[in-house]
Amino acid sequence: MLEIVSFVLGPAGTNAYLVADPSEGTAAVIDPAWDGHVITAEAKKRRWKIAKIWVTHGHFDHFAGAKAIVEGIEPAPVVALHPGDLPLWQMQGGAPFFGMHIDPAPDPDIPLSHGQILELGSIKFEVRHAPGHSPGHVVFYCADEKLVFCGDVIFLRGIGRTDLPGGSFQTLMRSIQTQILSLPDDTRLLSGHGPETTVGEERRENPFLTNGFMQ
Ligand SMILES: [Zn+2]
Ligand SMILES: [Zn+2]
Repeated sequence: MLEIVSFVLGPAGTNAYLVADPSEGTAAVIDPAWDGHVITAEAKKRRWKIAKIWVTHGHFDHFAGAKAIVEGIEPAPVVALHPGDLPLWQMQGGAPFFGMHIDPAPDPDIPLSHGQILELGSIKFEVRHAPGHSPGHVVFYCADEKLVFCGDVIFLRGIGRTDLPGGSFQTLMRSIQTQILSLPDDTRLLSGHGPETTVGEERRENPFLTNGFMQ
């Protein structure tokens, strides 16, 4: 059974998730948003070993804490990102676009691809490429636990913005349809910002999905 600790961190109020298979004590950080030392300290308190960092996309508010985690743990956790967002990652995740600066993280170790299976102890996650908010955005789907870490693809009653460089509204809507709405209604959506919701709830209540854009 997957254990999940969530944090709201940084100037954009980004959700970071520390997830573990407690039977093995192996942990991953999904979107180390900010303040990496806070996430590392929580893992230490629980005697979990952070072995992996999985990043949904290359916006700075989703990985600014990566450097502190990588540098604070021996051996350093491996970092995974879709190559479509590598240019964004290498430009400080677009931070200068917002007049900000972050400590650049080392380049990711693992290029994520659609359909790839990631393992955390005995728990498996499927990587689903869901571009539109950014070109290399992925979501991490855990069928056994009926949940998906969906970054900035979809939120409670909202969708990711598409006005940033590399964004596309049509592409995002197609990604939501094929990669999110194709999942069972009782699948939990753990988003990059705001509270959690479910596929079924958003299918019925999300104004972006019910107003005809999807047809
Ligand atoms: Zn974003
Ligand atoms: Zn975000």
